[in-house]
Amino acid sequence: MSDRPLRVGIVGGGQLGRMLALAGHDLGIACTTLDPGIDTPASAVAPAIVGDYDDRERLAELAFGSDVVTYEFENVPVEAALFVETMRPVWPPPAALEAAQDRLTEKQLFTTVGLPVPMYSPVDSLAGLDEALERLGTPAVLKTRRLGYDGKGQAVINDPLLAEDAWRSVGEVPCLLEALVEFDRELSIVAARGADGETVCYPLVENHHAEGILRRTLAPAPELDPELQLAAEAHAHAVLAELGYVGVLAIELFQVGESLLGNEMAPRVHNSGHWTIEGAETSQFENHLRAVCGLPLGPAEAIGVSAMVNLIGEMPDRADVLALPGAHLHDYGKQPRHGRKLGHITVRAADDGTLATRSEAAVAACP
Ligand code: AMP
Repeated sequence: MSDRPLRVGIVGGGQLGRMLALAGHDLGIACTTLDPGIDTPASAVAPAIVGDYDDRERLAELAFGSDVVTYEFENVPVEAALFVETMRPVWPPPAALEAAQDRLTEKQLFTTVGLPVPMYSPVDSLAGLDEALERLGTPAVLKTRRLGYDGKGQAVINDPLLAEDAWRSVGEVPCLLEALVEFDRELSIVAARGADGETVCYPLVENHHAEGILRRTLAPAPELDPELQLAAEAHAHAVLAELGYVGVLAIELFQVGESLLGNEMAPRVHNSGHWTIEGAETSQFENHLRAVCGLPLGPAEAIGVSAMVNLIGEMPDRADVLALPGAHLHDYGKQPRHGRKLGHITVRAADDGTLATRSEAAVAACP
């Protein structure tokens, strides 16, 4: 008999919790989620506790029914994670949550470990924004330090005269002003670190956003320079080691020429890693569970080339997608709503040419 933890509590019951629970099924790892919503994507595939993230009774119920607790979104209150940690191990460590919840501490962490970041300045008032604009110039992007996601809580400033509009539009809360980077492309690296420090990195992937939401991921990133992969892996190793991390971490990067700049990180499985379910030797979800359960990690190599297409706002016709060669449909079981991630399609192929044809067909099948 193994004495490894085999019951994993997941704070959050969205699609990431669902895909974690599905990966757990195959490994004999039972997941339970905690989420304030009923009928969450995860509740269709795993037992779900309904409660707020700061509800200590429900957090204790999750902890006592689990051997180890993890989370599937980064805005879990740090106090909640620390409370659960008094009862059960919590991975990734709450320190990772803390670092990722504030864009300032996140950038400071990147800088500490030698990952360059775009020029930025903390901003706490309209007068502070004017000063920061003088220093950084325009165009620049104002971002709330906390609770921004999918492009929310951000305003691009092209003219210093429009500073006040931007300051009001983000809610007059502590922010960072960042120089707008003219990047060549957006990349991300997903890495998993085990309890013994063993680390595996997936290939860098290329991400395409619209309106601040990830639309498509190409994996591995086309024409990927092996040196760039090594550089990204070194940065991921450094961040993981600095945090004493266990689990999957994603770092979003801007590629400028042959250099990488750190944009932000997610201390969890990540949308730009969904392709790994069919496109890699071991999925990010499986590796996250392996890591938090103290099990050996699986290889992170890609199998062929993949494109992941997010299904946002409206689902395509199921039969249309399933008729496409190389396509794999993931329906999160959510009610359609404008701008909502409802599912994704991963298309896989043996070569770039075939992938391009297949992913065009997948995009064409989407409403
Ligand atoms: P974020 O929430 O920080 O990931 O920002 C959402 C998206 O806005 C990014 O994926 C980029 O496309 C864009 N963006 C954010 N920060 C910058 C920046 N400093 N320079 C250029 N584009 C940015």
